[in-house]
Amino acid sequence: MKAQEQYLSVIKFPSFVSLMLIILGLLLAWVIFIAYRGIWPAKWVTAVLVICFLTMVFMVLMWIVTLRSTYIRIRPRWLQRLSKWMLIYVFYNLANFFRIITFSNRNVLTESFLNFNNETVLTDQLDVRNSNIMLLLPHCLQKSDCPVRVTSNIFNCEECGGCDIAGIKRMAAEHQVKAALATGGTLARKLLQDYKPNVIVAVACHRDLLDGVRDAWHLPIYAVLNERPKGPCFETRVNLASIEFAIQRFK
Ligand code: SF4
Repeated sequence: MKAQEQYLSVIKFPSFVSLMLIILGLLLAWVIFIAYRGIWPAKWVTAVLVICFLTMVFMVLMWIVTLRSTYIRIRPRWLQRLSKWMLIYVFYNLANFFRIITFSNRNVLTESFLNFNNETVLTDQLDVRNSNIMLLLPHCLQKSDCPVRVTSNIFNCEECGGCDIAGIKRMAAEHQVKAALATGGTLARKLLQDYKPNVIVAVACHRDLLDGVRDAWHLPIYAVLNERPKGPCFETRVNLASIEFAIQRFK
């Protein structure tokens, strides 16, 4: 990825959220100006405008907290959870709405959101030593004609080098982390329930990672996008250095 594209991929999500908050703030200011320009409005109008104003102030304050969570660990814990919930269910939707009205590319925004979320996860795990790290991988990483059954146990891989599973197996053994292949969202959820990891390094495509990070928003999930040189869901690849970087930061 070129440096300019990488930079855009990082700033797109926070820029979209900030622009949406500015637009909403200006709209609210305009409505308040119209409402109080002539005759004094009815009490219920005032009540609605006060609620809207307080909501706006709350969202701006939480956005500042969320931006800070990319470089400072947020404490107390309830504020960190609230900030994460707002990131997933409010700020992502604001950015996505801005994407729709500006006809922007969905995958670029998703990538930017995942990068932003990764920063919050890394910051929250700063100086935390995790003993239970899990690599959650998509089954499409495996070579399509591989006869070995690795979905039940990645360590069954015979390391022929035909796909990236071999490298991931070696990495998982070296760092003593759990690794599992999931054939879908249901199995991924079951694996998380069974293993109860402290932190997850998940590899998948844009859509699956976005769904996973939003579904399990309360868990620290570091997202690594796979590469799809042969098209979606078929013999995908992954940058092993990105996985190793995450493991080393969480260990
Ligand atoms: S590296 Fe492992 S999983 Fe991949 S094709 Fe070879 S034996 Fe199969």
